[in-house]
Amino acid sequence: MKIKKIDPEIYRAIKKEEERENSTLEMIASENYAPAEILEAAGSCMTDKYAEGYPGKRYYGGCENVDTVESLAIDRAKKLFGCEHANVQPHSGSQANIAAYLALLNIGGKIMGMDLSCGGHLTHGHPLNFSGKNFNIIPYGVRRDDQLIDYNEVQEIAIREKPDLIVTGASAYPARIDFKRFAEIASSCGAVLLADIAHIAGLVAAGLHPDPVPHCDIVTTTTHKTLRGPRGGMIMCREKYAVDIDRSVFPGIQGGPLMHVIAAKAVCFNNALKVNFKKYASEVVENARVLAETLKKNGITLVTGGTETHLLLLDLRPLNITGREAESLLQDAGIIANKNSIPYDPEKPLVTSGLRLGTPALTTRGMGRQEMELIALLITDILKKRDEKTLSSAEGEIKKLCRKYPLKR
Ligand SMILES: *Cc1c(COP(=O)(O)O)cnc(C)c1O
Repeated sequence: MKIKKIDPEIYRAIKKEEERENSTLEMIASENYAPAEILEAAGSCMTDKYAEGYPGKRYYGGCENVDTVESLAIDRAKKLFGCEHANVQPHSGSQANIAAYLALLNIGGKIMGMDLSCGGHLTHGHPLNFSGKNFNIIPYGVRRDDQLIDYNEVQEIAIREKPDLIVTGASAYPARIDFKRFAEIASSCGAVLLADIAHIAGLVAAGLHPDPVPHCDIVTTTTHKTLRGPRGGMIMCREKYAVDIDRSVFPGIQGGPLMHVIAAKAVCFNNALKVNFKKYASEVVENARVLAETLKKNGITLVTGGTETHLLLLDLRPLNITGREAESLLQDAGIIANKNSIPYDPEKPLVTSGLRLGTPALTTRGMGRQEMELIALLITDILKKRDEKTLSSAEGEIKKLCRKYPLKR
């Protein structure tokens, strides 16, 4: 590698990151390991090219190869999700949401989104985010007793508030979302419906989560979470919104698209169209289920009582430990996860009473049922006992697991 000589500081950090990824259990629900072909596309000369505009309608010369790449990415996205139109240019999930909101609404328009503390995303209306600063946000949450979306309550709020846009989708919601029900609610109050499937896109693509595409006007996503592609975003929509969405992405909020990342997105969609991606996604869900069941058997409380997706949320209050402490203890043993607010959390967002765990990355490494059972035991021990002896023995077990399932790209 040339970078080793030219920029040794960055080279060392990259090597150390490789080592960190290899030697820890990655359980952050939004992360995954991109395969070699994705890294190759993302690390290619396509990063050089300016291609403002869309395939066949560019503002620069020399776009014939990037046109091929972007057209393939669009065609594959349409095939994978069965959508009428796809824009593969958003740099991230947040960019996809900004572009969609600005395509549909005027500044100050009314958006109904899930509260961050109940599992929603910053871009669904947090006061410090562009969404909360520029739009009139009407939040909805989950029920206190079972932590599930109360569709009747969402319906009542929608009728009362008459939002312009309803956003469904979440970052920390372990249950499935009923997009059909959301579509009924949106049509009853005349709102446009947007599903943000950033987390569950891979499960949707594999047919393991109810499909938002037939029910929603707009579907936004990332490509780097369960979809296992490069860091990036995408917007899918019905044909009638296509022109507005495209204009909103470029020239609305972005200039030149990241053509190297779009090349990697094309590879990602192609991978997800193959039969073995279905197998991968079903193992992700099964691993999450086994992890949840084993944690529960060991007396751990789970938000919504379990999981129907790739992620679970531990309610740590019965253990008398905060999310911040739990995250740090697990990291000491080699398990990387994140603290996360639970619905109606009494703790502040930087402390929290919850811990979010996901299985996409471990499943990419090839781990299965047995490993999930072992990991659930280790997590329970670490969180309950909190002593040096437990930590160091867990650390040994985790090192062994990492050696047994090396990260192959
Ligand atoms: C991760 C996520 C996003 C944002 O993705 P970035 O690429 O980090 O901007 C948006 N919405 C939801 C629901 C997410 O989980």
